[in-house]
Amino acid sequence: MSGPSIVWLRDDLRLADNPALRAAIDRGERVICLYVLDEESAGIRPLGGAARWWLHHSLESLASGLRERGASLVLRRGPAERVVRETARDAAASAVFWNRRYGGPERTVDTALKTALRANGVEVASFAASVLFEPWTVKTGTGAHFSVYTPFWNACLRLPPPRHPLSEPHEIAGEPRPPASEALQDWGLLPHRPDWAAGLRERWEPGEPAARRRLREFLASDIEEYDRARDEPAAGATSLLSPRLRWGELSPHTVWHETIAAGRGGRFLAELGWREFAWHTLFHFPDLASKNLRPQFDAFPWPPLRPDLLRAWHEGRTGVALVDAGMRELWSSGFMHNRVRMVAASFLVKNLLIDWRHGEEWFWDTLVDADAASNPFNWQWVAGSGADAAPYFRVFNPDLQAKKFDAGGRYVAKWAPEHLSHEPLEPIVNLAETRRAALDAYAHVTRSARNAKDAPG
Ligand SMILES: Cc1cc2nc3c(=O)[nH]c(=O)nc-3n(C[C@H](O)[C@H](O)[C@H](O)COP(=O)(O)OP(=O)(O)OC[C@H]3O[C@@H](n4cnc5c(N)ncnc54)[C@H](O)[C@@H]3O)c2cc1C
Repeated sequence: MSGPSIVWLRDDLRLADNPALRAAIDRGERVICLYVLDEESAGIRPLGGAARWWLHHSLESLASGLRERGASLVLRRGPAERVVRETARDAAASAVFWNRRYGGPERTVDTALKTALRANGVEVASFAASVLFEPWTVKTGTGAHFSVYTPFWNACLRLPPPRHPLSEPHEIAGEPRPPASEALQDWGLLPHRPDWAAGLRERWEPGEPAARRRLREFLASDIEEYDRARDEPAAGATSLLSPRLRWGELSPHTVWHETIAAGRGGRFLAELGWREFAWHTLFHFPDLASKNLRPQFDAFPWPPLRPDLLRAWHEGRTGVALVDAGMRELWSSGFMHNRVRMVAASFLVKNLLIDWRHGEEWFWDTLVDADAASNPFNWQWVAGSGADAAPYFRVFNPDLQAKKFDAGGRYVAKWAPEHLSHEPLEPIVNLAETRRAALDAYAHVTRSARNAKDAPG
């Protein structure tokens, strides 16, 4: 008899449509599920506060789902390459399976681990589970990767369609004496002193069962309004699935096929396409969170950072109604509607003239759906430095955006009501003047790029 199989779970905290788990079950040996909290491997970005909160609860839910089916979840902390090897040794495992990750440092860890385990005679296999199309399969006619969304998504749609989701296992032959697990409580993922998570608890129920319920509920009703009202933050017309996809409580394959089975699609599936585009971009450009995708933006003359302005933005005290409402929604509930994310981000970069990386960091810390691809990808999109980016010179006017997308003021009334009950508040910067300063700074970038092109040699 050979040893048990380890399933190393990462951003795939689910039982249904989990190819690594399925492979372990099909192998016929006992199964050990492992989660490693890795805050030490080189280049791995420590999770933000809201993400840690979500992770705690999602792991709790996963452990209980596994228990009900006869298996347990082993928790360990430390650099993943070492920890997975040690766990495999402790368990005398003969196979380790996982679903693929696409970030640079994560791939380095996974490749090194695969080599080390195989050298010890352990079977290793990795599976496609977190994106609909593997990044190396989507190519332009010349074999390059895409930098513009529409041709990217059209190329995806010409590939064989995403596979059908795998069913959920009802029983798992767990290892009766699994290797020792750390206690989730000891990881300190939940905030205390102060406990700022009340708004998160009120809004969210992490875990696969709630994710499945939300998908069903969305497809049964809210999606009706999606095409018409998805840009209106008070309409409740979007799926709210982003944290579920971020943590892999649902696979994109499940969302894809259930949407089609419900007779829906179009605009909503195209949004999943943006998620794909962000992950593929990260795969090809691992420094997405720290470097401008378009290097000419390196010449952008950011003024010295004004911490007072950055703090006012964090706290939703900018004097601009839609921005303040969005930043407070974020702080209170770990989420912000997409349209408002665009407006708040544009305000930071183009009115406060603060480098997009400061905004990305704040979102990283406060969003429950913050992920290594979508967050920096969208920040660079707004800043104008990214793939298929909004041109820098298109500066959102936050007041016009509010008039258009929050015409009745319901969203502002909910999150920043003082904007409706007083005389209009004074923005912390003059919108017209700062817009002009941003455009001047941008002209500097285009001039530098032109000069560089014209330079001899
Ligand atoms: C500055 C900025 C930062 C962002 N950071 C993140 C982030 O860290 N994580 C994240 O998942 N999304 C991020 N987004 C994208 C988008 O705002 C959220 O995915 C969306 O608001 C989630 O709400 P929903 O699930 O109701 O979306 P829906 O409209 O219901 O869309 C369905 C799904 O499509 C995907 N999606 C939709 N729009 C985008 C997009 N622009 N980029 C990538 N995926 C998209 C999400 O997985 C989403 O759940 C960011 C957008 C901006 C402007």
